[in-house]
Amino acid sequence: MAEQYDYLIVGAGFAGSVLAERLAEDSGKKCLVVDRRGHIAGNAYDEVDQAGILIHKYGPHYFRTNSNKVVDYLSRFTEWHQVSYQVLVWTDGKYWQFPINLNTFEQYLGRPSTTEEMEATLAKWREPISNPKNSEEMVLSQVGRKFYEMFFKNYTRKQWKRDPSQLDASVCGRIPVRTNRDNRFVTDTFQALPQGGYTAMFKKILNHPKITVKLNHDYRQLGQDVTYGHMIYTGMIDEYFNFSEGRLPYRSMRFEPETLPVEYFQPAMQVNYPNDHEYTRVVEIKHATGQKAPVTTIVREYPEDFGPGKEAYYPVPAPDSKALYDKYATKAQGEKGVTFVGRLATYRYYNMDQVVAMALTEYEKLKAR
Ligand code: FAD
Ligand code: UDP
Repeated sequence: MAEQYDYLIVGAGFAGSVLAERLAEDSGKKCLVVDRRGHIAGNAYDEVDQAGILIHKYGPHYFRTNSNKVVDYLSRFTEWHQVSYQVLVWTDGKYWQFPINLNTFEQYLGRPSTTEEMEATLAKWREPISNPKNSEEMVLSQVGRKFYEMFFKNYTRKQWKRDPSQLDASVCGRIPVRTNRDNRFVTDTFQALPQGGYTAMFKKILNHPKITVKLNHDYRQLGQDVTYGHMIYTGMIDEYFNFSEGRLPYRSMRFEPETLPVEYFQPAMQVNYPNDHEYTRVVEIKHATGQKAPVTTIVREYPEDFGPGKEAYYPVPAPDSKALYDKYATKAQGEKGVTFVGRLATYRYYNMDQVVAMALTEYEKLKAR
C-alpha cells in the first residue's frame, strides 16, 4: 500500500520546512518532507564539531531582517542570541573596516577625517553613472576605482568566476557604503542567531504529528511508494525539468574547517580576502554565537565550479542566467500541482528571511485555493 500524503515537500531547508509547518499546523494537512541530504535545515544547517565548537557547515548564516512578521513566526521555535555582525577585510598587509565607512576612509588616509571630507572625496572619486547596469558600474558609481580595486574587483572574480561587469548591480549592491562610523555589516532592525542553533530551531519547526521527514531521499526515488495531492519543490528548477532548456549557472563552494588551540584566531567573525589567497573569506563563527571555549574552529571558503557531486549554493544574478531562468519560470507556471519556492526553485539570491517571507506568502496562496 502506498503511503498517502496531502503534500510532498522536496527540501527541508527554510522554504520546505516553513511550508510543512504551516500546512500541518494551520491547515491540518499531512506532509512528507524529503531531503537528499542526511540532515534537515538545508544550507542553514549547523552542528557541533569534534572540538565541541558549533559551526555553520555551509558557510556563515547571519540572520537579519526588517520583517516583524518573519521574526514573530520564527520566534515560536527559538529564543534569540542578539549579535552585531562584524566583518573585516584583509588587503595590503592589514585589516580594514568593512563595509566601507568613515573608519575605512581614515585608514586609507592614515589620519583622522570627517564625514564632510569623505563625502567630498567620494564625490571626486565616483564615476558619473546614474543607472548602474552591473556590479562594476554599481561600485564605481558609489566609491570610484581605488576602492573598487581594493575591495571588490578580485573578491567578486574569485567568488563568481565572472568579472563584476558581468553580474547584476544587485550583487555588489548588497554591500552598503557609509560615510559615518557604523562598522556593522548590515543595519537591519533585527540581527540575531537562534539561541540553540539553526538545526535545533528546524527540529522544532518540523516536530509535528502531521509531518514525516525522510532524509537521504531524492524525491525521484519515491516512485509508487508515496501518493500525494500537491508538491512543494525547493530544489534547482532546471533539474526539476531535466535541464530541458539548458543548464542554469550556479556557484559552488568548498568549506575547509580547521580547529586551532587558541581561544580566537582572528579579530572578527569574518575576514574577507579580496586580493590574497584562493579562499574568499575565513569565518570564525564563535565570535557571533558567543560560545566560550579554549579552542576555536575557523572555516575557509573556496569558491568552486558547480558540477557532479557539488552543491549549488548560489544562483548567478546576471542577464544571461535571468533569460534562461525565465524560460523555466514559464514552464513552472504551466506545472499544475507543483509550487516552486525558495532560493534554488525561483533562482533568486535570497537571504533566509526573504525565503521565510516567501514561504509564508505561498502558504496563504495555498490556503486560499
Ligand atoms: P536550501 O536551504 O538550499 O534547501 C533546499 C533543500 O532541498 C536542500 O537541503 C537540498 O538538499 C534539497 N533538495 C534539492 N533537490 C532535492 C531533491 N531532488 N530531492 C530531495 N531533496 C532535494 N542567508 C542569510 O540570510 N544570511 C546569511 O548570512 C547567509 N549566508 C549564506 C552563506 C552561504 C555560503 C550560502 C550558500 C547561503 C547563505 N545564505 C544566507 C542564504 C540561505 O542559505 C538561503 O536563503 C536559505 O538557506 C534558502 O533556503 P531554501 O529552503 O530555499 O534552500
Ligand atoms: N563583495 C566583495 N568584497 C567583499 C565582500 C563582498 O567584492 O569583501 C561582493 C562579492 O561579489 C560578493 C557580494 O559582494 O559575492 C555579496 O557579498 P556578501 O558578503 O553578501 O556575500 P554572501 O554572504 O551572500 O556570499
